[in-house]
Amino acid sequence: MLKGNFPIENFKDLRTPFYYYDLGLLSRTLDEVRRQLSQHPDYHMHYAVKANFNPRLLEMIAASGMGADCVSGGEVEAAVKAGFAPSDIFFAGVGKSDEEIRYALGVGIGRFNVESLAELNVIDEIAASMGKVAPVSLRVNPDIGAHTHANITTGLAENKFGINHDVLEDIIRHCLTLNHVAYKGLHFHIGSQILDMSDFAALCNRINEITARLERHSLPVGDINVGGGLGIDYHHPNHLDMADFASYFATFRKHLMVKNGTPVHFELGRSIVAPCGSLICRVLYVKEGSYRQFAIIDGSMTELIRPALYKAYHRVENLSSHEPEEVYDVVGPVCESSDVFAKSYSMDKCHRGDFIAIRSAGAYGEAMASQYNLHALPSSYYHK
Ligand SMILES: *Cc1c(COP(=O)(O)O)cnc(C)c1O
Repeated sequence: MLKGNFPIENFKDLRTPFYYYDLGLLSRTLDEVRRQLSQHPDYHMHYAVKANFNPRLLEMIAASGMGADCVSGGEVEAAVKAGFAPSDIFFAGVGKSDEEIRYALGVGIGRFNVESLAELNVIDEIAASMGKVAPVSLRVNPDIGAHTHANITTGLAENKFGINHDVLEDIIRHCLTLNHVAYKGLHFHIGSQILDMSDFAALCNRINEITARLERHSLPVGDINVGGGLGIDYHHPNHLDMADFASYFATFRKHLMVKNGTPVHFELGRSIVAPCGSLICRVLYVKEGSYRQFAIIDGSMTELIRPALYKAYHRVENLSSHEPEEVYDVVGPVCESSDVFAKSYSMDKCHRGDFIAIRSAGAYGEAMASQYNLHALPSSYYHK
């Protein structure tokens, strides 16, 4: 079994489970995104902070020149602390509280991505009370499905996100009458872990229809934010350690019709940070069940909930053993039947104390960790 190249001699004294971050890989990924963006001067990247708000990673991403896409006041605060310029911070989300809106206006963020008429009016009121003008984009629900897990599509009419496109024109007209919001553009986001570029092409076509309609009615379009969602290959982290950024940007280049000079914003999260992270655990016990054997590890859904929440696949590697493979259910200690990382999974024969790497866990891993069962939050190890 081909395995990642982990310095396990350094793991001996560390308390498992912990997150291992390959900062070299993150750095190469940021370089590649920057290289791609340099070919498209109107394209701008805002890293989706919710994928991983580990301060060390955030600082590297801020230093690479990206902006930040946030979905809470706490994320805005973390982004400011990590060094993102407030004007490069965007704030999205269907349920922004008054306190979060006030805080974001106070630090002078670059954009509110507004998801309803009610929210637009509240932002206008709060901005008025502070003597400010809030820069806003309207998040449009494009009613487009993506070929991904049902729980992570966001652009269907049935989803809670965004403004339905049939009322968009009325809301833009209303927005233009408000004195404390400034209309700046349109925002879209169709989902996550998208590998089929035709989903992004469909989004572009829908955006083209919407902007053409606005122009016909002499309404402003402003800039375009296409959201995030580019997927990674969870199955082959040792062969493909970077998302296909070239095909991704080429798809927008080919299909998105915008006037020259129109800024186009991207909000990638997963594809930037997922490959560089692994959850490192130890085998506690190997247990013979009546139908299968279990490798019971000390990591669980409290450190990495994606398998339990979305039935997500992560490659699992035994870093300590080089014995012939056996078949295991790889499970954690939490009192939930869904606390399973892999079922009927072949990996090198396990022994108590072996190090196990759960790969491609840099996105929606540490950020979603909980203390359920009163587990400690995971610590981190950074590899340069
Ligand atoms: C989650 C989210 C993103 C990032 O999605 P990824 O799949 O991690 O790239 C971008 N924009 C918005 C509005 C989001 O909610």
